[in-house]
Amino acid sequence: MSISRNKDQQPQLSRRALFTGLTQRAQQSLEVQETVQRTIPRPPNAVDEDIFTRLCNQCGECEKSCPESVIRLEHGFPTLDLEYSHCSLCGQCQNVCPTPALSHTQQDIGLRARVAETCINAYGFCDACQNSCPSQALEWRDGQRPSINNDQCSGCGVCQSDCYLGAIHLIPR
Ligand code: SF4
Ligand code: SF4
Repeated sequence: MSISRNKDQQPQLSRRALFTGLTQRAQQSLEVQETVQRTIPRPPNAVDEDIFTRLCNQCGECEKSCPESVIRLEHGFPTLDLEYSHCSLCGQCQNVCPTPALSHTQQDIGLRARVAETCINAYGFCDACQNSCPSQALEWRDGQRPSINNDQCSGCGVCQSDCYLGAIHLIPR
């Protein structure tokens, strides 16, 4: 790791050394398969939040590539806005990212689906969300509100988009 000194003779890590260290940290995190740490909704393969904001170079390529237009740059960093649409987990944002910021193997946006009591399937019939979940996290049951498996849910919001009554919401994990 190369160290240079500024005019006050304080040791400083070079940008290359810092980037290499952060990349190694991201790879170590993947090797032990930690649950991805998330405080803000991010594109599905974002690495842990503390290293994400140091690896992301704020180029905005992910925002431009998203076919669902759900990526917004906030303070220069991509966040997911799933209020009016959903993430199709297509992987385009990961494909175009020039850094390891979207290199996590887990597709976890950091949100979880919740089914409200206004779901009419509990006292009538509706199966609009029955086949919507690409992660098999939503279990539809006749005469009941669907249940969500938190461990399998990625927070993609497809079920929310499919519920025409607005009974499914996304909340922080
Ligand atoms: S996975 Fe696809 S739809 Fe989801 S945020 Fe990335 S580019 Fe957009
Ligand atoms: S339960 Fe809903 S938000 Fe969660 S993964 Fe399935 S479709 Fe996406």
